[in-house]
Amino acid sequence: MGLVENNMRPIQGIHHVTAMSGAPQANLDFYAGVLGLRLVKLTVNYDDPGTYHLYYGDGRGSPGTILTFFPWPGAMRGRNGAGMATEIVFSAPAGSLEYWQERLQQAGVATGAVTERFGERVFAFQDSDGLRLAIAESAAVPGYQAWGESAVPAAYALQGVHSVTLTEADARATEKHLAEVMELGEVGREGTRARFRFGDGGAGRMVDVVQDDQAGRGRVSAGAVHHVAWRVADDETELYWQGRLMKDGSHVSPVMDRTYFHSIYWREPGGVLFEIATDPPGFTVDEAMESLGGKLILPQWLEPMREDLEGRLPKLTLPKGGR
Ligand code: ZN
Repeated sequence: MGLVENNMRPIQGIHHVTAMSGAPQANLDFYAGVLGLRLVKLTVNYDDPGTYHLYYGDGRGSPGTILTFFPWPGAMRGRNGAGMATEIVFSAPAGSLEYWQERLQQAGVATGAVTERFGERVFAFQDSDGLRLAIAESAAVPGYQAWGESAVPAAYALQGVHSVTLTEADARATEKHLAEVMELGEVGREGTRARFRFGDGGAGRMVDVVQDDQAGRGRVSAGAVHHVAWRVADDETELYWQGRLMKDGSHVSPVMDRTYFHSIYWREPGGVLFEIATDPPGFTVDEAMESLGGKLILPQWLEPMREDLEGRLPKLTLPKGGR
C-alpha cells in the first residue's frame, strides 16, 4: 500500500502553463488563429497593468487546457536551459499529426519529424518567439470541452496540455521531489528522458524530466516558460499541499488570489517555478461562458484606471475562425 492510495487529496495533473512572449497580436494570431484555441480571458498583468495577460484554453476554459502568456512587446528572447520547463506538449486525436504539420507549414512554421515517445506519435515546433511546443497523438485531457467556433475542425482540435518537459542538470533531485513529495509515479525511461504521472497518468497528468548536464543556464524571457501550475480540487487541498511542501523544506508562498484560481508557488530542487492552482472558481467568475475572452476584464482595484489602461494597451484583433 503506497502513499498514493493513502492520500485523499492528490494533485490531479496540469492546471496551466504560463510563458512569456513578444508582441501580443502575434501571440493571439498564433494560439487563437493557427492553433485554434479559445481566448478565454483577456486581462492585464496584475503586476504590470500596462501589459496584457492572455489566457487560452478549450471551449470552457477547463483546467488542464490552459496556456497563459505575459506579452512584452520588444522583449528580449529567452533561452532554454537547465532548471526550466523546456517544452509544452499538446494532446491531439489519433491520426491528426499530418493535418497539424500541413497547417503549421502553411502558416510558415517549421515542423520537426514525427517520432515516437513512450508509444505515442509526436512532433515538435516553435511559436514565433521560439517557445518550444509539440503535439502528441493521445487522449483528450480529463474534462476537455470542444470549442465550436475554433478555426480547427473538432476531429483535429488540440485537446489540452498533454505534458510538459523539464530539463535538469541534476534530474535526480527533481525526480525525488516529484516522486516523494508530490507523489507522482514513474512511467518509464527513454534515453535521458524519464516520464512521471499523477494518479493513473494519461494526457494532462504527465511530466517528463530530461537529464542534460550540458544545458547551462537559461533565461526566462520571450519564448520561455515562466512556470507550470498543477491542479487541485479545492482550497482545502491546496492548504494541505502548502503544509506538506513546507514540511519538506520547500519555500512555498502564501495563498494568492489569482481571480480565476487560488495559487501557491515554490521552486522544485532543479529551479523550475511550480504553482498549485485550484480548479474553482474558474473563468466564469467575472464573465459569462458564451462571451469569455470577448473584452478586456480588469480586477476591481484596476477598474478606476480602465480608461487610462485601455489607452496604453495595444489594440488587439481576435483572428476569425476558418482560416
Ligand atoms: Zn500560474
